[in-house]
Amino acid sequence: MDKHLFADNILNWYAKNKRDLPWRHTKDPYFIWLSEVILQQTRVKQGLPYYEKFVETYPTVKDLAEADEQSVLRLWQGLGYYSRARNLHAAAKFVHQELADKFPASYQELLKMKGVGKYTASAIASFAYNEKVEVVDGNVFRVLARVFGIATDIASHQGAKEFDALAKSLLPDEQTDEYNQGMMEFGALQCTPQKPNCMYCPMQSGCVAFQQGKQKELPVKIKKLKIKNRYFHYLIFEYQKNDEVFLGMKQRVGKDIWSGLYDFWLEEKSALQNTEALMGESDWAKELTEEWVISKESVAYKHILTHQRIQATFHHIQVPVSQTDQEFFKDLHFFKLDEIVDLPKPVLIDNYLNKNFF
Ligand code: SF4
Repeated sequence: MDKHLFADNILNWYAKNKRDLPWRHTKDPYFIWLSEVILQQTRVKQGLPYYEKFVETYPTVKDLAEADEQSVLRLWQGLGYYSRARNLHAAAKFVHQELADKFPASYQELLKMKGVGKYTASAIASFAYNEKVEVVDGNVFRVLARVFGIATDIASHQGAKEFDALAKSLLPDEQTDEYNQGMMEFGALQCTPQKPNCMYCPMQSGCVAFQQGKQKELPVKIKKLKIKNRYFHYLIFEYQKNDEVFLGMKQRVGKDIWSGLYDFWLEEKSALQNTEALMGESDWAKELTEEWVISKESVAYKHILTHQRIQATFHHIQVPVSQTDQEFFKDLHFFKLDEIVDLPKPVLIDNYLNKNFF
C-alpha cells in the first residue's frame, strides 16, 4: 500500500473513531508519561481510574517526586508490575532534583528517565512535542504485519528491526502525533487480535492479510510465555491487645514480584502443603511453644500473573504478645488492622484481609 494512502487512512479513521480519553486533551508531557506508564500491560478501562487518581493526587511531577514511595505504591495497588510504580517515582525524583522540574523535551532526553524505554520515550516525544518518531507497540506490530503481509516473528530481533524501519518509513511529515495515536487506536479498536473488523475497514483493498485471508496468522509471534507455578504458604502471626488485633507483616525486598509491598511471613515450597506438613520442614516450627495456637488454615487461593501462577494458603497462628519481641520476629512488623488498611499490598493479600479481617 502506498505510504501516503496508508497515513491518510489512519488519520481519517482516527478523526472519526478515537475514544475520548483525558490524556488526549493535554500536551503536558507529565500527564502523557503517567498515562503511558499506567497503560503498559493494562487495558484502558482498567487504567483510566488509576490515571485519574494519580493526576488528582500528584498534579505535578514535583508532587509525585515529593511523595513517599509507600503512598505511591498504595495508589498503584491492583495494577500489578509494581516496578513500574517504583520507576515512576524514581524518574519523578530525577526530574525534580536533577532537572529542576523541567520535563525532558526530546526522545533522547526522555530515555534518561528510569523505566522509560524506546516505546515510552517515542510516545511522549510524539504526543507531547510532535517529534517525528515512530511509536511501535503491540497494536502497531499487528496492523503493519497484516496490511503489509509481513510474517517475520515480531518477538525476534530481526522482527523488531524490520517493523521499526517500516514504521519509520511510513511516518507522515505532519500530524505525526495524531498519526501515531491513530495507529495504536486503529490496532486497539479496528484491527483487533481476534476479530478484526475487515468488513468496514478503510485498508481493506490494500491489506495483504485481508486479501489472502491471513488475519489469524499475522502477526507471527513465536516466543511463548513460560508460566511458572509457585506455591506460597503465608503464616499470619497475630495477637490481641486491648481488644485490638495485630498482624505480623513484612515488607518485600529484592527483585522478586511485589517488591516494596507488604505481605505476611512467607514460606515458599515446591507444592502446596497443609500446616502439619509445613511444620515438619520449616524452621519456624522449632520456635513453636505451647502458647502458640494454630487457629486456622485457609483453602488454596489462586492468583494469576502474566508469567506466574500462584497458589497460596494462609495459616493463622496466635502468639502471646509477650513473645513477639523475640529475635525470631525481628523481620516482622506488627500492625493494628486500621494501620494495615493504608499499607501497599498485593491484591492477593488485600483480598484475603478483606474477607477475613475487615
Ligand atoms: S482489512 Fe482487516 S486485517 Fe486488514 S487492516 Fe483492516 S481490519 Fe486489519
